[in-house]
Amino acid sequence: MDGRDSTIPRDADVAVIGGGVVGISAALFLARAGRSVVAFDRTEPWSDASGSNAGTLSIQAMRVEVLAMARLGIALWQRFQEEDGMEVGFHRLGGFLVATNDAHIAHLRDYAAKQAQSGLELEWLEANAMRDRAPWLGRDVRAATFCNEDSHASPLLAGNAVVAAARRAGAYVLSQTPVEAVTRAGASYLVKSAAGGLRCRAVVVTAGPWSGEVARMLDVSLPLYVDTNMLTITEPGPKLFDRVVSHVAGILTLKQYENGTCMIGGGWQGRGVFATGQRKTDYDRLRQNWATAASVVPGLADLRAVRSWAGFQAVTPDALPVIGRLPGHEQAYIAAGARGGFHMGPAQALALSEMIQGREPPLDLTRFDPGRFA
Ligand SMILES: Cc1cc2nc3c(=O)[nH]c(=O)nc-3n(C[C@H](O)[C@H](O)[C@H](O)COP(=O)(O)OP(=O)(O)OC[C@H]3O[C@@H](n4cnc5c(N)ncnc54)[C@H](O)[C@@H]3O)c2cc1C
Repeated sequence: MDGRDSTIPRDADVAVIGGGVVGISAALFLARAGRSVVAFDRTEPWSDASGSNAGTLSIQAMRVEVLAMARLGIALWQRFQEEDGMEVGFHRLGGFLVATNDAHIAHLRDYAAKQAQSGLELEWLEANAMRDRAPWLGRDVRAATFCNEDSHASPLLAGNAVVAAARRAGAYVLSQTPVEAVTRAGASYLVKSAAGGLRCRAVVVTAGPWSGEVARMLDVSLPLYVDTNMLTITEPGPKLFDRVVSHVAGILTLKQYENGTCMIGGGWQGRGVFATGQRKTDYDRLRQNWATAASVVPGLADLRAVRSWAGFQAVTPDALPVIGRLPGHEQAYIAAGARGGFHMGPAQALALSEMIQGREPPLDLTRFDPGRFA
């Protein structure tokens, strides 16, 4: 991102604190709706988890509680790409959610039944039907569901495209500008940063794993913890598979890009020290991640890893995000802690943007109310 927008107005309708996928998408929606918006990022916008994740948009891997939000997320990524002309690398490939032992098959059946009840169309596949559909799946894969909505997008392309779109829509997007304090000033808020003081009517906390820290500036304490997820990218190889693949136990996500490289993830934990910002990979766990990947798509065993990395993401005790008004505040909002936060980022942002404009959000947010932890 370039370092534009280093000077800001003294007043705005909305201050967005945290410039990842949620914050920048919120800034975009609000600016398009005619609101004046200043989005702050402590480093470079979209450079943290939002810029370094796997880009998996696997709706069938989502819990039923977030299915509506996951579906809206995919629709918005597709709209960004196909209607708004933003190059976000969106591809709807369809995907398999696989099971590799009896316990996983039982889990997959249970999962599929719940998702089907919630309106998701899935195909149950095993034995020959599965081999016919996906001959590249390994013998260890015992059953799978196929969902044609599963997709992926490119975190890198999306960052450039959505930040540029937010700026074009009129939002100020600030780099290297951490928010240091937020105080109430009558019916407004005063946001303090190196760019000076900003008086605004509403504040949006979208600071990813730092959201708890920012919420505390508003005297709200939320139980937000931090995971250190790891990813591996391979060298380019021959075309091995053409779908998004995830494991029902949450231990694998896989995709192959047009240039032949494969992205291998699945939530394996690295050795992060959030307080110091240190994000180290754990090689034993990466090896297990790799072994799982090669048992699901054996062709991967012939490829070499080019790079592995780790990044921080916020999590909550009930594994559901906090989205909505901060307890005790009429005009301070938060969205953080979603598992699949890239997938659902634009949907969370749209929900906040609608609330800030005094409209009904496009989703029922009751389960995600931050007040459940108050
Ligand atoms: C390795 C990895 C792989 C992942 N894979 C996937 C995937 O395949 N699919 C998926 O859906 N999700 C995935 N995720 C999760 C996803 O990346 C995150 O949930 C999502 O990007 C979070 O977006 P965000 O906007 O909430 O926060 P972030 O992207 O964390 O952005 C928060 C921003 O707030 C800024 N900030 C913090 N404090 C301040 C402050 N005081 N003032 C100003 N700015 C501040 C930070 O600099 C940062 O840029 C993955 C995560 C990781 C780490």
